[in-house]
Amino acid sequence: MWCVDCGDELPAGDPYWKRRCLDCFKASKRLQGIPPPSLTLQELMARYDALSVRLRETEEQLVLARTEMGVIDPTMLKLMISLCHPDKHNNSLQSNEVTRFLLRLWKESANG
Ligand SMILES: [Zn+2]
Repeated sequence: MWCVDCGDELPAGDPYWKRRCLDCFKASKRLQGIPPPSLTLQELMARYDALSVRLRETEEQLVLARTEMGVIDPTMLKLMISLCHPDKHNNSLQSNEVTRFLLRLWKESANG
C-alpha cells in the first residue's frame, strides 16, 4: 500500500484502513484543525481604537474640505447656529446678525 498524498510506501504492518504515511497524516490533521488566532483580543482592540481615531480624523478632514469648497457641513452649521443663538448672547446685535446669516446659509444648503 502507498500513501494517498505523497505516494510513499506505507509500513508493511499498518492496518488496511491507513491511507496516509505518518507525516501526511499529521499534515492533514494540521489542515483540519482551527488555526491559532493570529491576533490577541488586546491587539484587536488596539487596532479598533486606531481605526476609530483615523475615522474621526477622516470625518474632520471631510468637514474641512467641504468648508473650503464654500459648503459648510450641515452638522457643523447646526452647531454654529446653536452656539450663536441670541438666547445665549443676551439678544445682542452681533448674535442676531450672525444667526440670521447662518440661517440663510442653512436654508440655501437645504435647497441644494
Ligand atoms: Zn505520505
